[in-house]
Amino acid sequence: PVPRVTSTPSSLVGAPFDVERVRKDFPALHQSVNGHRLVWLDNAATTHKPQSVIDATSEFYARHNSNIHRAAHTLAARSTDLFEGGREKVRRFLNAPSKDDIVFVRGTTEAINLVANSYGRANIGPGDEIIVSTIEHHANIVPWQLLSQATGATLRVVPVNDRGEIIFEQYAALLSGRTKIVSVTHVANALGTVNPVREIIALAHAYGVPVLVDAAQSTPHIPIDVQSLDADFVVFSGHKVFGPTGIGALYGKTHLLEAMPPWQGGGHMIEDVTFTRTVYKGAPEKFEAGTPDIAGAVGLGAALDYLESVGLPAIAAYEHDLLDYAQAGLADIKGLRLIGTAREKASVMSFTIEGQANEAVAHHLDRHGVAVRSGHHCALPALRRFGVDQSIRASLAFYNTREDVDVFLQALHRLARH
Ligand code: PLP
Repeated sequence: PVPRVTSTPSSLVGAPFDVERVRKDFPALHQSVNGHRLVWLDNAATTHKPQSVIDATSEFYARHNSNIHRAAHTLAARSTDLFEGGREKVRRFLNAPSKDDIVFVRGTTEAINLVANSYGRANIGPGDEIIVSTIEHHANIVPWQLLSQATGATLRVVPVNDRGEIIFEQYAALLSGRTKIVSVTHVANALGTVNPVREIIALAHAYGVPVLVDAAQSTPHIPIDVQSLDADFVVFSGHKVFGPTGIGALYGKTHLLEAMPPWQGGGHMIEDVTFTRTVYKGAPEKFEAGTPDIAGAVGLGAALDYLESVGLPAIAAYEHDLLDYAQAGLADIKGLRLIGTAREKASVMSFTIEGQANEAVAHHLDRHGVAVRSGHHCALPALRRFGVDQSIRASLAFYNTREDVDVFLQALHRLARH
């Protein structure tokens, strides 16, 4: 049986949320696919964009487009202001103390590679240990593996229980004087588990160990306050928070970023260059070599404005209800096995159906207009913990409705009957 997941914080119950109103803001949702209304349940892979994000991005190219060198001319000043305005919106979204703590990157993957290559190479050596969990996206495994191979450090992995929840005592047992960084996801992309990042951070800090939080899957669903969490690094991707692809952000505590060396060299990141000595700018520019995705930063800022206007607490409450409703429905599908039944869960339903190939299920759903993902979701160790190396993943966002879920469930029932 599929356990019901009910974890709506009572303070959020009854928060006003008008799904039909927000749906109007997303043009891509209003199309038919294979003769059916599109039902987008692939939100963990990427999200659709509200009109305000599309407008901000196209307006940037239509009217302001310039490289960011403020002093040169009028459009350059405007572009620089818009780019830096995007940074300020990210700062506000995460409640970071300073705009200089926000580094623009291509996305979560690049942010983790930045920390592994810069912080990691400066602070991690032979015999040191790096802690990740079993349920990480490959983006939070492979960069640490590469670093371990280069430095002689060891990767330690926190196991999860049969629900897909981190076993906290085992995490505590892995921490030691050898640990140099803990890097964990906030919400697991293949299972939906919400990790207790506040407790994970507090315990690591008792050992003087910094923590990176991969917030790629949590930022669209859960408010994040880096100061209240006392997180050392927080990373996320624009395209998963209703913003453009190709842009994301790294938050780092000021003193950590200041002490870290650059990891890529080039224009924009220097004060002075000679053939014998280069002087770098401070953070964040030190980490932003080359022309950045300026329109992306503007679009990301618009996406965060949009999220703020809808309200993440209201979104979280609405999505908890919808996830409950969908998981209760999945419990009635013959032969369905839900993978990942954490008591604190967000957005994601990963499953297999007995006797059905995952890809065939995804194609069947697509024929009914329902977009889900089938495959390994870039989280092979997480799935293998449950004895599979593939699943079907349906993932919700705040613009999904009970009708969306009903279409999805009916299509699954139809498949199970054949
Ligand atoms: N971390 C998690 C938890 C993710 O879900 C993803 C994307 O699916 C990533 C990292 C990588 O994000 P990106 O591909 O945007 O760099």
